[in-house]
Amino acid sequence: MKMRYALVNGVRQEAQPKLRGVCVNCDREMVAKCGQQRIWHWSHLGKLECDHWWEPETEWHRMWKDQFPKEWQEVPHIAADGERHIADVKTGTGWVIELQLSPISLEERVSREGFYRPMVWVVDGLRYKRDLGAFRRAVTEALIVKDNPLYLDPFTGDAGIFQRWTPRQCPVFMDFGDEKFHVAGFPLNVPILWQLLLRPGTRTTVVAAVTRESFIQFCLNGSPLQNIVVMRDPQQPIRAYPRLRRRY
Ligand SMILES: [Zn+2]
Repeated sequence: MKMRYALVNGVRQEAQPKLRGVCVNCDREMVAKCGQQRIWHWSHLGKLECDHWWEPETEWHRMWKDQFPKEWQEVPHIAADGERHIADVKTGTGWVIELQLSPISLEERVSREGFYRPMVWVVDGLRYKRDLGAFRRAVTEALIVKDNPLYLDPFTGDAGIFQRWTPRQCPVFMDFGDEKFHVAGFPLNVPILWQLLLRPGTRTTVVAAVTRESFIQFCLNGSPLQNIVVMRDPQQPIRAYPRLRRRY
């Protein structure tokens, strides 16, 4: 179980060569792993797993965690019945942000959504090569349901990424890094996350694009997400640009 932090003399610390510490979740001993192959991390002594939901830390997890204060990262969350897991990020207002790289079963997703509520998923869309192509096609060939803010009815076909991440009870945001997308032929020029939403009263997925920066600000201080808007001007080609959206 690779983790970024352990407690050294009661203080949260990143791995340093030869350091020993204890796990923030289970209090058991951890050793710092500081090799050249992998990012420096902490690991339980003797390959112990104290949270079977935990994903090994990657650069992608680190990049996201780096957006938030240290005290918000890797926070143990304990249910009334004593069940405990480690939230990737837990904000000051109690929102849990789960950073998900690998596919998980529907059963586990439902469990985690019930356990951490309120929570949002941030999914690494670049984990599998085919996902990016399928998502890009789905967006490019989508119908524009609404232009302000932009909602698209994606051409999902039987793309796995939509099957795996159809929203259930909690918001799902797809992160394709710096990959560029076009909507109605127009490039989206700011870094975005794609939000998957359910069309009210249906099980149909619609997608919206929010700026990555506004998502981070939303997590940091509750400020509104900025949705991409499509402008239709009869004299001009359709333009897409970010604009403030008032409601979450
Ligand atoms: Zn532990």
